[in-house]
Amino acid sequence: MDFLRPASWEEALAAKAEHPTAVPIAGGTDVMVEINFDHRRPEYLLDLNRIADLGEWEVGEETVRLGASVPYTKIMENLRAELPGLALASHTVASPQIRNRGGVGGNLGCASPAGDAHPALLSAGCEVEVESAARGVRMIPIDEFYLGVKRNALQQDELIRAVHLPKADGPQQFSKVGTRNAMVIAVCAFGIALHPETRTVRTGIGSAAPTPIRAKEAEQFLAAALDEGGFWESGAPIPPSVAKQFAQLASGACNPIDDVRGSAKYRRHAVGIMARRTLGWTWESYRGNAHGTKGGAQCA
Ligand SMILES: Cc1cc2nc3c(=O)[nH]c(=O)nc-3n(C[C@H](O)[C@H](O)[C@H](O)COP(=O)(O)OP(=O)(O)OC[C@H]3O[C@@H](n4cnc5c(N)ncnc54)[C@H](O)[C@@H]3O)c2cc1C
Repeated sequence: MDFLRPASWEEALAAKAEHPTAVPIAGGTDVMVEINFDHRRPEYLLDLNRIADLGEWEVGEETVRLGASVPYTKIMENLRAELPGLALASHTVASPQIRNRGGVGGNLGCASPAGDAHPALLSAGCEVEVESAARGVRMIPIDEFYLGVKRNALQQDELIRAVHLPKADGPQQFSKVGTRNAMVIAVCAFGIALHPETRTVRTGIGSAAPTPIRAKEAEQFLAAALDEGGFWESGAPIPPSVAKQFAQLASGACNPIDDVRGSAKYRRHAVGIMARRTLGWTWESYRGNAHGTKGGAQCA
């Protein structure tokens, strides 16, 4: 196995163009497991660790540009106000050691339906910045990024450079079911973001379909109910019937399988519960902020 160590982004793109089968390695917390277990023996490993830009982030007026290799720990420590959903999701990834190495670029590269970043990325709404030496930069909306089980929209000569996320304009939440509280891959997970500025709601579901998905019918139902009832203005409590219907629609969006981590039936049920709970937490936060537009987070 050849180990390619580009010193710059341009060198990395050139190496990927020359060796399209080269496997990028960032934190290595997925790649090294596959190599150690002999699930994969790539001809070339493309080490991205010398490219400082990938580990940096920029907070702009309306968006955060998050370098592909920014470790989860840094997201939790530095971006909790701007990206509360992703910060909460980061908190549930594995252990401190893995969170110090792994990042969102690796989660996207892997595109496992169980990756914890995905529900937060889907609910925030974001774009993935990818680039190739031949065709330059391409921005992929997150809704178009996941193509199948562990398949994403990257072309063979492309690398992920960053993710562009809107700064939270309202409360966001993330919840994950696992067999214990740490070092666990999700049985299923749910993310929600309230967007008071646009009067919309977005969701993300992990590990309950072949790809991470949104519960679009649930989102539309809730946004209409909040609008028609004047809830955004009044900040009144959401009626239990609305929360119940939202949960049922979220559960209905799932297309899970039975596997070692849980049954399809359990996953559908758990997603409904998480949808109702996270809606309750985000709405309480919205009310608590006197309907303000600042993001809020609460630990699940
Ligand atoms: C013990 C353990 C526990 C874990 N628990 C969790 C968990 O709770 N939740 C969770 O979501 N994940 C978990 N994981 C998986 C892993 O930590 C995450 O998926 C993490 O986000 C991977 O990031 P990384 O930088 O280490 O990726 P890497 O291992 O370096 O790469 C992962 C994939 O992405 C590709 N890739 C990386 N960077 C780029 C790039 N810039 N452009 C294109 N492709 C790229 C790689 O080629 C590879 O296919 C766990 C892993 C271990 C070993």
